[in-house]
Amino acid sequence: SAAPDATAVICSSESEQRNAKIRSQFPALNQLLDGYPLCYLDTAATSQKPQMVLDAMAQFYANDNANVHRAAHQLSARSTLSYEKVRDQLQQFLKAERREEIIFSHGTTESINLVAFGLTTHVSAGDVILIDAAAHHANIVPWQELAKRTGAVIKPIPLDQACRLDVSAYKTLLELKPKIVALCHVSNALGTVNHVAQLVQLAKAQGAITLVDGAQAVAHLTLDVTEIGCDFYVFSGHKMYGPTGIGVLYGRFDLLDTLAPLLTGGEMIKRVSFEATEFGSLPNRLEAGTPPIAEVIGLGAAITFLQTELTAQVQAYEAELVNYLQSQLRALGEVHLYGAFDDNIGVVAFNLADEHHQDVGILLDQQGVAVRCGHHCAMPLMQSLNLKGCCRASIGIYTNKDDIDRFVAALVSVKDLLL
Ligand code: PLP
Repeated sequence: SAAPDATAVICSSESEQRNAKIRSQFPALNQLLDGYPLCYLDTAATSQKPQMVLDAMAQFYANDNANVHRAAHQLSARSTLSYEKVRDQLQQFLKAERREEIIFSHGTTESINLVAFGLTTHVSAGDVILIDAAAHHANIVPWQELAKRTGAVIKPIPLDQACRLDVSAYKTLLELKPKIVALCHVSNALGTVNHVAQLVQLAKAQGAITLVDGAQAVAHLTLDVTEIGCDFYVFSGHKMYGPTGIGVLYGRFDLLDTLAPLLTGGEMIKRVSFEATEFGSLPNRLEAGTPPIAEVIGLGAAITFLQTELTAQVQAYEAELVNYLQSQLRALGEVHLYGAFDDNIGVVAFNLADEHHQDVGILLDQQGVAVRCGHHCAMPLMQSLNLKGCCRASIGIYTNKDDIDRFVAALVSVKDLLL
């Protein structure tokens, strides 16, 4: 019998139409680079922004611009209302129990720093902190700094031969009763997924505080932090079709409420005198200073966009695109794929034979194809793969089959040139 069509979803006219409608909302995609139409495969670094996000921010600055929480006047009331509405949106988006569990930061990096600093008094010399070996530097360095301050010990959770988190090694490490376990939901370098609910449950059973870095998950998966069960979940707005400069820290209320604030100053206090200062309550206690108000409003629009557009069909389309991309690269020959599975999210990591990843990236760029090349802020992972770096093609909600075909055709010409 005939082999099933592996591209049934991405080739159906219904999904093509849906994709075209989504894509048309992203003005930046509609441009030529040296005569080549832009083929944007760098969404894992930052996503493009839909018109509704651009409009929401422009509208805020044009009409409502005022500082939040402070003044008695109407503009400030409007701006505070819009800002706080996004917290409600996020509570619903993440299925968090309370709105006070949502803290605005400037990005994933800051969110993890807020937690790692805030937990200082929870950690003592000799305590163990487990970190996913596939972690982004943002989920490594703040823990190393915490270890320096407290005398805690960092232990990486190794990956198995296939580049997945080694669950049996993880279980053995958990016998050390770690104080903190820091996991990534989806690896930014490889696109591999951790079954975080299960991993968190194992960590909780040993009494660990758990943080999940969702920077690469949030644009692709439907999230439920209560189901995941983690203490902290963090991500950035700019990777989920929102603006740069805004991030989110979700924290389980009881624990979040014990974090020492990393930043102190205005907005986060109840009473200040030169003798003593009393901090305010959550969420303000962890949001010192004027927040990125327009960026929060932009993030709110991005959440509305995702809630409208990221349907189960679109998720299936994205999954099939990633599989199609992997299979096209495999078919090329001379391409090494790293950590490629059929459940990868958003990302395909590869090298072209022994060619330097940077050369490949530059030559692809000359044909309008944008991919990422380097260590992807995951040097320990690259070391474990014995690589200096690799190329990474990453997709978003707007990517279509034509993008993949154009990328593969460009790579063929790079291959012809270099090999
Ligand atoms: N964690 C992961 C998995 C990432 O992919 C990134 C960004 O690439 C970060 C953390 C850091 O995010 P940001 O630079 O937005 O703080």
